[in-house]
Amino acid sequence: MKNVTLSICEEFHCIGGDCPDTCCAGWKINIDKATDAYYQSVTGDFGELLQSKIDRSSEPHHFIMDKNLRCPFLREDNLCSIYRNLGEDKLSETCTQFPRGQLKMTNLVFSYLSFACPEMVRMAFSSKDPLSLSVTETESTPTAPSQNSALEDFYLESLMVGISIAQNRSFSIRERLALCILYYQQQQHAIDYGTFSSEYSTLFSNQEICHQLISAESLPASDILLRLRLFRLICLSIKIGTEEPHLMQIYNAFLSIYQQHDTNWLIDNLEDIFSSFHDLDIESEHLLVYLYLRYTACCSSTGVIASAMIFIVVFYVSYQCFLAFATLEKGSSLDQNERIRIISRLSRLYEHNSAEFPNLLQLLMEHDLDRPESLFQLI
Ligand code: SF4
Repeated sequence: MKNVTLSICEEFHCIGGDCPDTCCAGWKINIDKATDAYYQSVTGDFGELLQSKIDRSSEPHHFIMDKNLRCPFLREDNLCSIYRNLGEDKLSETCTQFPRGQLKMTNLVFSYLSFACPEMVRMAFSSKDPLSLSVTETESTPTAPSQNSALEDFYLESLMVGISIAQNRSFSIRERLALCILYYQQQQHAIDYGTFSSEYSTLFSNQEICHQLISAESLPASDILLRLRLFRLICLSIKIGTEEPHLMQIYNAFLSIYQQHDTNWLIDNLEDIFSSFHDLDIESEHLLVYLYLRYTACCSSTGVIASAMIFIVVFYVSYQCFLAFATLEKGSSLDQNERIRIISRLSRLYEHNSAEFPNLLQLLMEHDLDRPESLFQLI
């Protein structure tokens, strides 16, 4: 069994009350059956409080959030009163595991720490060096036919080469994204035809060939208006609600700017802001590496690895747009804490809406935004 993760995940510690946000608010917190059985046995005042704050009318049982969408056991100082009263080992699995996530295939496990946690983003962004991938192998009897193993090795190889392209600092972020779009497209053809050869991985690992590919491809210029069109579609599709007031505020700023100004004003003003994000290339690289791990894992389970690049571009473009309109609204550049806040809330929004991804993909197809040529114009 192979386990692949980012090495920094091994150093992560929740910072609890020092967290600028909290993962105990703004979404549904489910309680696993074993923990719930224990909660039902708790007596005394705390036991009564516990029973009154759990909704058992539907599965899975979950905490009843307060009017500010905070967990009823989250204290004013952002510490957990279940942890304080009953102990760390009495937290439900959701509370213990977040921000850890896993996608298990037969002989391959993708593990990650969600960027919905601002501390995880802060850790990633504090590194100037490329984030490293850790692949460990544990001995276990293969549980699947060799065809599955070959396919899973192919996914792992695609992820490793994809990440090495994302970290190749001799290319701009835009060129790295373009190379990855081309590479994942070739990998998808290989999957479709059942030929899991390393031919394209070898090709895309060659610096000289990558340079030739980029010049031969003659990338179309970025299209800011297309980017805004995508941003609007995404925001309508993933329905930003009251649980994300900060993103909602930026989106409303976008709508009013979009309605008040003509095309030339939008292009002139946004071009400068988007260009200024080149100063954030290392942060963008780390974000992309995280997204490669997340979406390669999630798209490997469906066998459509090319979709991973669509989701990566969608996330990346929506982040850049949130950043741009927050900058316009503020009238100056955002600091790193403000950028981390946007990324973590956006990650949370995407995680909430993961069930909507097939519809989002369908919508992009209807608008011709899923094709490589459109993706090139969007980045
Ligand atoms: S968001 Fe991260 S750092 Fe903050 S409380 Fe949750 S796990 Fe801890």
